Amino acid sequence: MKRISHWIDGAVVASTSGREAAVFDPATGQQSGAVDLASVGEVDAAVASAKAAFPAWRATSLSKRAEILFRMRELVDANRSELAALLTAEHGKVLSDSMGEVARGLENIEFACGIPQLIKGDYSEQAANGVDVYSIRQPLGVVAGITPFNFPAMVPMWMFANALACGNTFILKPSEKDPSVSLFIAELLAGAGLPDGCFNVVQGDKIAVDRIIEHDDVSAVSFVGSTPIAKYIYEKGTAQGKRVQALGGAKNHMLVLNDADVGMAADAAIGAGYGSAGERCMSISVVLAAEGIADELVAEIAKRIPGVTVGPGYEEGNEMGPLITAASRDRVKGYIDAAPGEGATVVVDGRENLPAEGFFVNPTLLDNVSTEMSCYTDEIFGPVLSVVRVAGYQDGLDIINANQFANGTAIFTRDGGAARQFQFDVEVGMVGINVPVPVPVSYYSFGGWKASLFGDTHMYGPEGINFYTRGKVVTSRWPDPASSTIDLGFPETR
Ligand code: NAD
Repeated sequence: MKRISHWIDGAVVASTSGREAAVFDPATGQQSGAVDLASVGEVDAAVASAKAAFPAWRATSLSKRAEILFRMRELVDANRSELAALLTAEHGKVLSDSMGEVARGLENIEFACGIPQLIKGDYSEQAANGVDVYSIRQPLGVVAGITPFNFPAMVPMWMFANALACGNTFILKPSEKDPSVSLFIAELLAGAGLPDGCFNVVQGDKIAVDRIIEHDDVSAVSFVGSTPIAKYIYEKGTAQGKRVQALGGAKNHMLVLNDADVGMAADAAIGAGYGSAGERCMSISVVLAAEGIADELVAEIAKRIPGVTVGPGYEEGNEMGPLITAASRDRVKGYIDAAPGEGATVVVDGRENLPAEGFFVNPTLLDNVSTEMSCYTDEIFGPVLSVVRVAGYQDGLDIINANQFANGTAIFTRDGGAARQFQFDVEVGMVGINVPVPVPVSYYSFGGWKASLFGDTHMYGPEGINFYTRGKVVTSRWPDPASSTIDLGFPETR
């Protein structure tokens, strides 16, 4: 059986904790491996390695850091298929989706290659007579990333690319449900020339997480996962004096107005609701259908569902794979079980015609959902679309703004004025206008509002650079230089 261990100080390190967790192939339900769960001592060893590596990495020139990131960019590009296959084997998402995840992760590495430009400060000459003032941004030290199961390649790339580019050293604590990708990333970074200790991987559970957030030598923590854990990490981490950004769960609404192209909205709802089996924090979970088009929209979505091919992610042609665990499958089914009793209509029932094995739930469509039903109030994180019928724009907007989550949302309309008003009114961090999954490109930043984000900075992009650095302002006065030297060599940067 495959064993997945830690990566500390530039090498795979077998655990001595005596604790492990099973890793599954979600398409068959069979155990495929075992992941070590770190002890406090193993976390401490990783932090010590990162701390020792920090002074030299911090002093490494920007050109050299960019060169290593460029090489990492080339290695990830050359290994897209291998990364995607590893990801699909443990997560279950279909290969094309895994390739998409790797591609969007890679864009964060490409962004970080621009670090010489990104980290520039300001300079004011002659702030007073003979006095100049300038600002610089410096790394924080050892920083950690704690990541969820649903994007085992992309979310770590959101974090470590900018963190390393800024001169920090990094500890990754990936999800214990699909841990293999993290070790492959560590190997690629080593292959790119990143010095030992700059990037460490600690496999583990709550014990590892708690040790990371209480460790005095960890300066900052980036977290992505569910809202209760995000809140816990934010509160505990900031109480320890750390800088924390903690992204939480979601309940994303798609508002379809009467003037929308109903066919296009139905296509979008299928892709955004059932892509990756609904296990995306930017999935659409609720369709708010204006009453003039609601019947037609429900019929159009239902008509398309039988065309979604469900099966193992590694089999060519499938569009939707299984859920991550048996517990997830059973939880998602539980919401479908409860829906009729709460007053919803099950239009398409994803509990039917399931493959004989694996953690599958088929695409499900619920209609006549209201905001007090459990399928509305909870983050389902599965292939279930709930249709809430609304009178129109204002009714839909009010529902979105009353929700505790505020990660992503989308409006479907042909009315530019309505779309502009929506962008102005809606209290959500990421907004799509006729775009159902509006994940910002790598040169913007990613983050929700309200219970979808704890902390002040969004992740990656320009806010990522700010998160992983702290500002310093220098005020300087110099007498005229009394001496100088002559050097005819071409100026070098490293
Ligand atoms: P999760 O919160 O269960 O786990 C996330 C991380 O926290 C994992 O590394 C896990 O090992 C650790 N963890 C779990 N329980 C813990 C505990 N009690 N104490 C300390 N650490 C603990 O999330 P998940 O199930 O892996 O991922 C799905 C969730 O992540 C969904 O809620 C989804 O919306 C959210 N998510 C949000 C975003 C975003 O950008 N907002 C992106 C992806 C996923």
